[in-house]
Amino acid sequence: MLIDCHNHSLHSFDGQEKVPDVLENAEKLGLRVFALTDHCDMIGGADPDTLRREIAASVDEVVCWRESHRTNCRMLCGIELGDPQENLPLAQEMLALRPYDVVIGSVHTDGNEDYYFGRYDQMRDEEIDASLTRYYQRQIEAAKWGQFDVLAHITYPLRYVVGDYGRKVQMERYLPLIDTLFDIIIEKGIVLEVNTSGLRQKIGDTLPNEALLRRYYARGGRLITLGSDAHTIPVMAYGMDRTEELLRQIGFTEVCWFAHRKMHKIPLISSLLDENPV
Ligand SMILES: [Zn+2]
Ligand SMILES: [Zn+2]
Repeated sequence: MLIDCHNHSLHSFDGQEKVPDVLENAEKLGLRVFALTDHCDMIGGADPDTLRREIAASVDEVVCWRESHRTNCRMLCGIELGDPQENLPLAQEMLALRPYDVVIGSVHTDGNEDYYFGRYDQMRDEEIDASLTRYYQRQIEAAKWGQFDVLAHITYPLRYVVGDYGRKVQMERYLPLIDTLFDIIIEKGIVLEVNTSGLRQKIGDTLPNEALLRRYYARGGRLITLGSDAHTIPVMAYGMDRTEELLRQIGFTEVCWFAHRKMHKIPLISSLLDENPV
């Protein structure tokens, strides 16, 4: 396994691990690149002062740790900027708060609450359809704004709607919106994340899944990164090896990561054969 560029610590409202413990585990796992990307949500999240304090602490602790440790793993600091269009002035302010290595953009809502809190057993099919349509429109809006390096988990609602509540979703309905989304990020050079969290959750698949990754590839998308979205140490880098293999099968030849918000790439050859540090 090579990289894991989406992780959380106790500086996220839903995280619990101390930063040094997370970084030490990244090294123990043999990762070549690791990024801590605590939540910086512009909707339904913490108040701005808490956000400023938590993000500053998250970044500063990574910088402090890497200044005092020698390691073969590149330890990167970043944020997961959630639903940026909900508060663009604050989003801009947070982007300037620290010199991040990487900024992940993500959408967690259809404009209401996070899908995490939704009760999808109590919604009619048409309501779910309307919510997912809004979700993809919001991702398009966020991608057009585009002040981030990576677009995270583009099928996030399915983790809950399909995984946790077992509702049937016809993804064909959203393919025109997803194609538009792909075209925007390809044109802007924003990297698509393969989020492996679904492999350890009820949905049992990567976010996005193989079919959508093939669709992205077929439209010319070649920029791809990997994130476990771990909020606890035991699931860091979960499912990375098989996801790398899936990417190789689709035709991807390298994975992307960022330092000082500049893109770097690692060849997607088998990590078992590749012992060279970055
Ligand atoms: Zn997220
Ligand atoms: Zn996350």
